[in-house]
Amino acid sequence: MVSAAISAIPLEQAIWAALDEVHDPEIPTISIVDLGVVGTVEVAPGRIRVAILPTFVGCPAVDLMCAAVEDQLRGFAPQVQARVSFAETWTSDRITPRGRRHLRESGFAPPTPLGEPDGRSDLMSPLLPVAQCPYCGSADTTLANAFGPTLCRAIYHCAECQQPFEQFKTI
Ligand SMILES: [Zn+2]
Repeated sequence: MVSAAISAIPLEQAIWAALDEVHDPEIPTISIVDLGVVGTVEVAPGRIRVAILPTFVGCPAVDLMCAAVEDQLRGFAPQVQARVSFAETWTSDRITPRGRRHLRESGFAPPTPLGEPDGRSDLMSPLLPVAQCPYCGSADTTLANAFGPTLCRAIYHCAECQQPFEQFKTI
């Protein structure tokens, strides 16, 4: 927005737009931008550096994300580096509202937002993971298996509509 930086802004915007086309390897309906795992994007002449925040320490998807980001941005600069960064901590609060909607639409329960002013989180102990059924919206759900298909996800069962569903673990 500052005139001195005008030339840098469109490039950075184009990079973020390109990053928005990179999807989580485990959940293709959500982009890595909506998932909130893109920490910082540094643009220097001839070089782009992207910091990727791991959603879960040791989550194997992080390496795949870095490789996908480098592939995606290769046209923007001769040198593109995507690296895992621990400078910032990823929490499920980083998932954008659009990302939460996409998760719900594809049958994933978004992580229970911490401190979202819908009243529910105030009533429940923050230590108990409450998953809302993405199919019928019921909160009458039970954790069926803490270890879903990947380390980041857990399987829940809805008592209301009898559907099993997956939820991102709330970190
Ligand atoms: Zn349900």
